[in-house]
Amino acid sequence: MRPINKLLIANRGEIALRILRAAKEHGIRTVAVHSTADADAMHVRLADEAVCIGPPAARDSYLNIPNIISAAEIVHADAIHPGYGFLSENAQFAEIVELHNIIWVGPKPEHIRVMGDKVEAKRTAAKLGLPLVPGSPGPISDLDEAKAIAEEIGYPVLIKAASGGGGRGMKVVPDPDQLETLMAQASSEANAAFGDPTVYMEKYLGDPKHIEYQIFGDGEGGAIHLGERDCSVQRRHQKVIEEAPSPVVSAAQRAEMGERVRKAMADMGYRGAGTIEFLYENGEFYFIEMNTRLQVEHPVTEMISGLDLVAEQLRIAEGRGLSVTQDQVVLKGHSIECRINAEDPVTFAPSPGLVKNFVAPGGFQTRVDSGLYSGYKVPPYYDSMIGKLIVWGEDRDAAICRLRRALEEFVIDGPKTNVPLHQRILKEPAFASGDYTIKWLERWLEEQR
Ligand code: ADP
Repeated sequence: MRPINKLLIANRGEIALRILRAAKEHGIRTVAVHSTADADAMHVRLADEAVCIGPPAARDSYLNIPNIISAAEIVHADAIHPGYGFLSENAQFAEIVELHNIIWVGPKPEHIRVMGDKVEAKRTAAKLGLPLVPGSPGPISDLDEAKAIAEEIGYPVLIKAASGGGGRGMKVVPDPDQLETLMAQASSEANAAFGDPTVYMEKYLGDPKHIEYQIFGDGEGGAIHLGERDCSVQRRHQKVIEEAPSPVVSAAQRAEMGERVRKAMADMGYRGAGTIEFLYENGEFYFIEMNTRLQVEHPVTEMISGLDLVAEQLRIAEGRGLSVTQDQVVLKGHSIECRINAEDPVTFAPSPGLVKNFVAPGGFQTRVDSGLYSGYKVPPYYDSMIGKLIVWGEDRDAAICRLRRALEEFVIDGPKTNVPLHQRILKEPAFASGDYTIKWLERWLEEQR
């Protein structure tokens, strides 16, 4: 056991603020690190201390390991929380943090490394008894071998990058004639984007849902799951709306699959927060990857479980174990999150700039996680997500009504946002029915043009 006295938050935007709030509530002093572009950010203003770590470009600031470690040394921070994105899934960074005798609020570096390589992640998941998408047992480079595997699992197949992320380096292969060309293309794209040409093959599922389980481990063989989230409303593999629980998973199936992922994480000795991602088709789950960090959409799980997931991460990092046992986890009601992006709601072009006026929705069971304020300038250098609106309802219909009401209250004067898009989606019968798939939003947008 080692208590955290001062936490350095190695991130920006809404997640930096989210982490800061949890730390403050637990009497932990907070340190914001920021680029020159973020000097006026809300979390920088609210932090006990702030250190500038470089110019706007992320590789020179939020991804600059020496600068972040130096900042931690200067202020005597005894822990680092990486948030999501940036260095959160960089095993080397986690190792360096621990080598400096600073608490890493995250999983063991070896687990970050294994899950960061998708081929290794699938091997590990298979050993732990999780169901996989049928595909190559490892990396593929040989064309004849690839042909044989594709014949066996059936076309179309998907070529994916072992080091991939954000949906990049993926190619759908419709028939054997195109296999050679598309494999080569996927491999060279993967090399350009991730510095690793390794690719593997999966059966291409026609119309699945994306369903993921939130898990926590204590690092010593104890683990819990907090149910699933349905993140099937996607555009270009980016999640737009997330909800918990999934409208299509039955209580029996939730418990059965939940126990499988819980046991897998316990057997692994996993530490901290993690998400096991599955595709779900015809009532079956297929593991695709594991994220070894907090997710953007974690609040929907917080709303139905009543647990503060960042507080949970902090207590595990302090060596105090899990705050609840699986039996004590009670999931209640329904929660939905809309990601609010500074972008044109029709063309999706980013729309940074001055926020002349900002009024956030409020009211019963309505939560806004955002660093926005009137007079804030959304910098053009980073992700366009400027906040999240999260609501809870007794059931899914109540949550949808509350979400519609809350979206109407938003005033964001200046940058264009996707609030009107969310309002349109929420009126769609396909969304109301709950059985939409990962293809639905793009198809619907196409029809609207
Ligand atoms: P990344 O790390 O690049 O996000 P994932 O493996 O998580 O890659 O896949 C991202 C998205 O791509 C999924 O949410 C899903 O929409 C789609 N996808 C991935 N694998 C398959 C598959 N085998 N069949 C169909 N769609 C897939």
